[in-house]
Amino acid sequence: MVIYLDHAATTSVRECARDAWWQVSQTVGNASSVHGAGREARRVLEEARESVAADLGCQPIELIFTSGGTESINLALKGMWWARDAAASEILLPDGEHHATMDTAAWLAAHEGATVRSVPLSAAGAIDTHAFARALPGSALATAMVANNEVGTLNDIPRLAHAAATAGVPLHVDAVGAAGILPLDFRALRGDAPGGTGLAAMSVSGHKVGAPVGTGALVVSRHSTPTPLLHGGGHQRGLRSGTQDVAGAAAFAAALREATVQREAEYAAQVTLRDKILRAVASSMPEVEVMGDREKRLPGNANLYFPGAAGETLLFLLDMAGIAVSTGSACQAGVTEPSHVVLAMGRDEGVARSVLRISVGRSTSEDDVDALIAALPSAYERAKASGALSAGRS
Ligand code: PLP
Repeated sequence: MVIYLDHAATTSVRECARDAWWQVSQTVGNASSVHGAGREARRVLEEARESVAADLGCQPIELIFTSGGTESINLALKGMWWARDAAASEILLPDGEHHATMDTAAWLAAHEGATVRSVPLSAAGAIDTHAFARALPGSALATAMVANNEVGTLNDIPRLAHAAATAGVPLHVDAVGAAGILPLDFRALRGDAPGGTGLAAMSVSGHKVGAPVGTGALVVSRHSTPTPLLHGGGHQRGLRSGTQDVAGAAAFAAALREATVQREAEYAAQVTLRDKILRAVASSMPEVEVMGDREKRLPGNANLYFPGAAGETLLFLLDMAGIAVSTGSACQAGVTEPSHVVLAMGRDEGVARSVLRISVGRSTSEDDVDALIAALPSAYERAKASGALSAGRS
């Protein structure tokens, strides 16, 4: 049996989400149809929307169901760009964002005349809030992630949102890594930002909270009207046309509800297991360094730098031992590039190629962690001996 310690990439589907999906999928009806079957589908869909909206602190009208984080981020950034004040051409993009964000901004630069302005990260992987605030005035839009998906460091989103509101710039927040784990209150983060300024949109993804892959949402402030990517039947405020996935919405709502209700208990359990890994690594391999902020980090994330060993060799050796971990974001797995996050933290390529992300989740047991702790020292020795990494660069 695989010991799965890659919950930041995706986590198992919650039973409540599976049940919700199964139950709704037994029924037939298009939520836009006017007959009884359609009205029933609509009722289930709107109940799911109300539930997700309540858990994210927004109004149901502000909740746009999507297929996941990547689509939400694309809709937010491209849509906000096309709906911007035409005089502004800069997109404020912190270093170390997820590729869904980076590549969307790069596409806007390559095809739509946007200028991308970067904001540095601290050595701990946090967005430099002062540099962000200084660069805001005159920007067309800005984006920032709540929690870095590789190193787990948390950003000061209330301050960034406040700075965006003060500068009169719309802000998109990527909350994919944080939803269901940290409290998220869209309304409170927006504060009394006027019109389309300040926090304008927030992306979340179902498969990170225990809903099926292919579910997710973009919260779009009722004061904002991004240009849609999909045109058609005008569903969901005209922002995302297409027949709606009622079963997926119900499953997402169920998963997020359970994650919200159990948040404190799941958080505490993950911290306990993650810290057990960190303590064991510190005592058996003292040269291994914890990357990211020691305090302000996701509860399940342990991102470790193994001097002299290639992260992908370690990943492979652990995989052979039946333990699944990651070298970075899952979307990058298979591509042997150094971690762009670690590089943005000011470390060199040797370090950026020698990191491993271990992420525990709600189904992780103490036995799973003990198996990792037992396997890691010999895997590290073998990875160092394999010499896949040129020595002395870290
Ligand atoms: N943003 C962050 C921070 C992520 O970790 C991910 C996925 O790993 C995404 C966006 C993309 O989300 P999805 O996999 O739902 O498309």
